[in-house]
Amino acid sequence: MPQRVVFTPDALDEEFGQQILARVSAQNLEVELLKSNRLTGLRDPGGDVRATYRTAKNTLAVVKAPAGALRLQPTPPSADWQLNLAEGCPAHCQYCYLAGSLSGPPVVKAFANLPQLLANTASYERPGRVTSFEASCYTDVLGIEHLTGSLAEAVRHFSQREGAQLRFVSKYDHIDSLLALPHRGRTRARFSLNAEPVARRLEGGTASVEARLQAMRRLALPVAQGGAGYPVGVVLAPIMPIPDWQQHYTELLDRLQQAFDFDCDLTVEFITHRFTPGSKDVLLQWYPNTSLDLAEEGRAVKRNKFGGLKYVYQPEQMKAMKAWFYAEWQRRFPAAPVHYWT
Ligand code: SF4
Repeated sequence: MPQRVVFTPDALDEEFGQQILARVSAQNLEVELLKSNRLTGLRDPGGDVRATYRTAKNTLAVVKAPAGALRLQPTPPSADWQLNLAEGCPAHCQYCYLAGSLSGPPVVKAFANLPQLLANTASYERPGRVTSFEASCYTDVLGIEHLTGSLAEAVRHFSQREGAQLRFVSKYDHIDSLLALPHRGRTRARFSLNAEPVARRLEGGTASVEARLQAMRRLALPVAQGGAGYPVGVVLAPIMPIPDWQQHYTELLDRLQQAFDFDCDLTVEFITHRFTPGSKDVLLQWYPNTSLDLAEEGRAVKRNKFGGLKYVYQPEQMKAMKAWFYAEWQRRFPAAPVHYWT
């Protein structure tokens, strides 16, 4: 629950913004109606980055997404297009993927013009194939679903789109509001999982790995067996070669296998840990005492076409981890495709 909820005037002009207002008011959250569409007062007046971080993470701002949000960006290898229902996330992962990629204090912004954003996706569908839309590029949509209802709205929308698929990924477990939705198999619900030492040490404010496993199980179980019959997925990320990594990841895969003792539409995505100079800088300001390994030494440098660089594991180590994860996955889940390794 955020400590502060603010609405911009433009957000209140939107019907969906009014729905969010009713939802947060019903949860007895104090609501502030801003006089302008600019979000102010989020930075600590004394310039304390940690204080700014805390205030922002505890603030939900309901805003109208700018016109630029209607120009969708591709998001390989996860999906064809980004579909951002919100930006920012209330959790405290010390390796957070958002660090350095969103500007300003890490406030959670939910978009009030959601129906417009959803309708806009139709022009991005490609004929003759299923076009996928990723809702989790800049937020954890399930983490704020109790406040916004945006994910349920998106699931309903895509249930009506023959040629499209919605994808989201989460580290939360409150999935009750999704269970009875008419998703028609067009939303893939993925859960981010990791070895216990990584999840416990680095993923503050999220649901436990066990809770995520059980949430995924309930979404995936066939309707005839009391579940919701969603296509589901595991996002194993960020994979880290911590001491005894094979043992810790074996335990995770074994638990997953126990939870998935039935047939369902399951996929996996493997993402190894990486960081950029910019994300390292932001993360060390947010989490100055982190035990996350952010040493450049021993990493390989990967450059993108714009000259930006990121630090990834050495090719030999990557090769060994990839071979191990593929073999262990395929042995346990031969019918569940690996979507990608990165
Ligand atoms: Fe960042 Fe994802 Fe963790 Fe949220 S759940 S803090 S977006 S890594």
